[in-house]
Amino acid sequence: MISLKEDKEKKYIEELKKKILRLKKIRNAVIIVHNYQRDEIQDIADISGDSLALSQAAVRTDAKVIAFCGVHFMAESASILNPDKTVLLPVIEAGCPMADMITPEKLYAKKLEYPDAAVVCYVNSSAEIKAESDICCTSSNAIEIVKSLKNKRIIFVPDRNLARYVQSQIPEKEIIPWNGFCPTHIRLQEEEVTLAKRLYPEAEFIAHPECQPDVLSLADHICSTGGMFTYVKKSLKKEFIIGTESGMLYKLKKENPQKRFYLPTAHLICPSMKLTTLGWVAHALEYMINEIKVSDEIRKKAKRSLDKMLEISGEKKWMAVSGY
Ligand code: SF4
Repeated sequence: MISLKEDKEKKYIEELKKKILRLKKIRNAVIIVHNYQRDEIQDIADISGDSLALSQAAVRTDAKVIAFCGVHFMAESASILNPDKTVLLPVIEAGCPMADMITPEKLYAKKLEYPDAAVVCYVNSSAEIKAESDICCTSSNAIEIVKSLKNKRIIFVPDRNLARYVQSQIPEKEIIPWNGFCPTHIRLQEEEVTLAKRLYPEAEFIAHPECQPDVLSLADHICSTGGMFTYVKKSLKKEFIIGTESGMLYKLKKENPQKRFYLPTAHLICPSMKLTTLGWVAHALEYMINEIKVSDEIRKKAKRSLDKMLEISGEKKWMAVSGY
């Protein structure tokens, strides 16, 4: 039986969703939502998926306003690729701690240390870092991007775990990892995965490359969040242990009702991703606040790094691997 409190909350949520729909029409807006967002935010998405896949989708929309439900670097990428559109980040404080683990000054010093190295920058980084890099990559195309470069030496920023994973797949290159990490993914411990495997012996363990190397060594498959949707759909298995942020389970369950999904730990929650609520989305659209803008100088340089990645990966192929 639904309690009075639950009933009121349900009605409040429905009212907010209606308000957002109304505002969307008035503003000619599109709502794009990252896979790690709250369930109710995923419900109002016009488009949901990986960070850069979302930005690419935003390029194709006719909408004038993009309400980006994710974290700062994602809205920034959307703005870099769509300078004529208004990109709103409903909660301006929603940053990514990993993206903050590198500064342009420190990267510049590293480049002086290794003048022969190319800089490959994971999209989970600020516009300034993208502008200082030779090329961007995502977790789904990082191996392909690094392989495509002539340089033997690669400075890989800012995620050391993705860098190590790439190194394990391309031993002929020398990858110099930046010492950044995702505070959410590194919470996942080897023992927790081992225990989950014991509890669900029929399940496949799928891990995001931002996890630590000992966790990745236990994975049946390593891929991006977009890759997880594709993999699960194709797999003949019925059970999966998911090694990434908890928000993934909502859409995985929705798209695969006949399959079962388990999180190896309750700690796989990114606090920044959960800051966005329906109330904040409505607020941003109503008052048109929290616009994300990148200076023209930085934008042009950062776009070059993003464009180079897309040239190599090919947009169509890239969209397929990212699961968009
Ligand atoms: S999950 Fe990790 S990488 Fe993604 S936004 Fe959160 S802290 Fe950043």
